[in-house]
Amino acid sequence: MHLKSLTLRGFKSFASATHLQLEPGITCVVGPNGSGKSNVVDALAWVMGEQGAKSLRGGKMEDVIFAGTSGRAPLGRAEVVLTIDNADGALPIDYAEVTISRTMFRNGGSEYAINGSSCRLLDVQELLSDSGIGREMHVIVGQGQLDSVLQASPEDRRGFIEEAAGVLKHRKRKEKALRK
Ligand code: ATP
Ligand code: MG
Repeated sequence: MHLKSLTLRGFKSFASATHLQLEPGITCVVGPNGSGKSNVVDALAWVMGEQGAKSLRGGKMEDVIFAGTSGRAPLGRAEVVLTIDNADGALPIDYAEVTISRTMFRNGGSEYAINGSSCRLLDVQELLSDSGIGREMHVIVGQGQLDSVLQASPEDRRGFIEEAAGVLKHRKRKEKALRK
């Protein structure tokens, strides 16, 4: 499984449709300060269902919608489409290619779709859980976060590894069961 492409429309600084083709392996995004590199990462988190405005480096959820510049009027909606190569069947869905999209309007909530069929946030979360990507997974390491990982206590560092390996939720369930 790998991320195949990402399309942003009206998301943060990407007012016009911007299509990023990704290849298997490592992708580097380079550019001057403020050119939108982190916005691309925010778009990835957002399309996978991120619900926290702070995690998206904004004050409120609408801040992901293109807010306008001196030469360009603000937009009324943001859309991100993520295409995942699922030829190895890592995602529990019968398609070799999976497209997840999220659209948000300035006056309302978000709409999600999987392979073009509209769905709930929960469907996106369930599709991605156990895949190693998605909600509550520390796969996106933000600027400055590396320091906190390096300075973390051995216990906290173990937590990161357990979360990445997908065993944290089982440990939490076990702890909850033992408390009863
Ligand atoms: P650095 O190298 O400093 O980390 P970067 O390439 O990661 O920079 P970003 O943080 O992705 O840069 O982009 C910041 C730019 O995105 C700013 O110019 C900011 O004004 C713009 N931006 C953020 N949200 C919006 C929005 N809703 N509408 C328009 N522009 C936005
Ligand atoms: Mg940045």
